[in-house]
Amino acid sequence: MYDVIIVGARCAGAATAMLLARAGHRVLLLDRMSFPSDTLSTLYIHQPGVARLDRWGVLDQVLATGCPLITRITFHLPGACLSGPAPAFGSITGGCAPRRRTLDHLLVQAAVAAGAEFRPRTTVLDLVWKDGAVAGVRHGSRRGGQVVERARLTVGADGRHSTVARLVRAPYVRQDPALTCFYYTYWSGIPEQGLRLHFLHGAGTACVPTQDGLTLIALQFRPDGPVAPQDRERLYQGRLRRNGEQFRRQLADGRQEDRLYCCADQPNFFRRAHGPGWALVGDSAHNKDPITARGITDAFLQAEMLADRLSIPLDDPREVEAALSHYGRDLLRQFTPAYESALRTARLDADELPPDLVQHQHDPVYVDRFLRRYGGIP
Ligand SMILES: Cc1cc2nc3c(=O)[nH]c(=O)nc-3n(C[C@H](O)[C@H](O)[C@H](O)COP(=O)(O)OP(=O)(O)OC[C@H]3O[C@@H](n4cnc5c(N)ncnc54)[C@H](O)[C@@H]3O)c2cc1C
Repeated sequence: MYDVIIVGARCAGAATAMLLARAGHRVLLLDRMSFPSDTLSTLYIHQPGVARLDRWGVLDQVLATGCPLITRITFHLPGACLSGPAPAFGSITGGCAPRRRTLDHLLVQAAVAAGAEFRPRTTVLDLVWKDGAVAGVRHGSRRGGQVVERARLTVGADGRHSTVARLVRAPYVRQDPALTCFYYTYWSGIPEQGLRLHFLHGAGTACVPTQDGLTLIALQFRPDGPVAPQDRERLYQGRLRRNGEQFRRQLADGRQEDRLYCCADQPNFFRRAHGPGWALVGDSAHNKDPITARGITDAFLQAEMLADRLSIPLDDPREVEAALSHYGRDLLRQFTPAYESALRTARLDADELPPDLVQHQHDPVYVDRFLRRYGGIP
């Protein structure tokens, strides 16, 4: 019998497992994938997320992989260019963008070091119920059968199409239509100029320096309809080249090092995040358009919120339920403003920009405030 079973071992699940294990709980962490492995993501972590990595003792290992701290941010917007140092969050002076196979694996290792048991290549198929509450999971076994594991609490950290959310029938508290599509790939030979974002001609571009001297270049746009696979590369290259002569030259000098990754599956929602014997964290609880790059940072903040609430003995179901209901309320309250901001940005509509932006684009105080809002820094 475990205190907590966590389904999904990426940035939400591994962080939650690490924090709960450090709090002394007996934790089982499961993921259907093998690790280290990548997942769809443009990788950027804002300063508050980097601060969590630092607090958890993982940041030095992330940076030791050659992942640069991103200390300059530039926004190219219609009629304006805002550029400035990444605002500090405590002692953290930049964002960073490690590959997910690095980040998620380091977090899993930290969870295991804290005492969590980790089973990769393990798919949760069903939940076990007792007296109307979730009492554990049923997962596939590598030898072909099924295994039951029991716990006081089961946490779904299994992404936006969460199996746990489906099995507990977690209702949507809020749902909005999907807005953008993301196409991205990795480039070498692009000059390191920090995080660069273009929001021009009804599309967004993000240049994100990551490990191995590579730059992830992402295109975000609102599709008119499905794009045929054979047209995607042309669309990506064509749209990127609309970002001006300097950018066109950089692409011409650079080299595309990987295939194009495409994602149109970006639902926007909050689900009810708790119930008897279960809780949701990360994208399973709350997913939003990735255009503001908040998913990883928010997964860390939610992991911390949930673990803080669960720093109690877990043997009294009423106390656990009270703790979870605080968690659910805090989650909705804390993440709604950033959710609404992501939806506004994802409309890719120049009319959504602040009217005083052009006038103040060279004012360092204004730029700092703008970049703080972007990074979720109070
Ligand atoms: C195209 C794109 C670009 C993005 N760019 C950024 C960005 O730049 N910055 C940012 O902060 N966020 C970004 N995001 C969002 C970010 O990737 C997510 O918010 C983040 O990955 C959520 O982490 P998670 O741990 O909740 O879920 P996930 O990363 O989805 O992990 C869920 C895990 O659960 C496992 N799982 C699922 N079902 C089961 C099951 N039945 N049994 C066992 N295991 C299971 C999966 O294998 C997976 O490993 C982007 C998202 C997309 C789609």
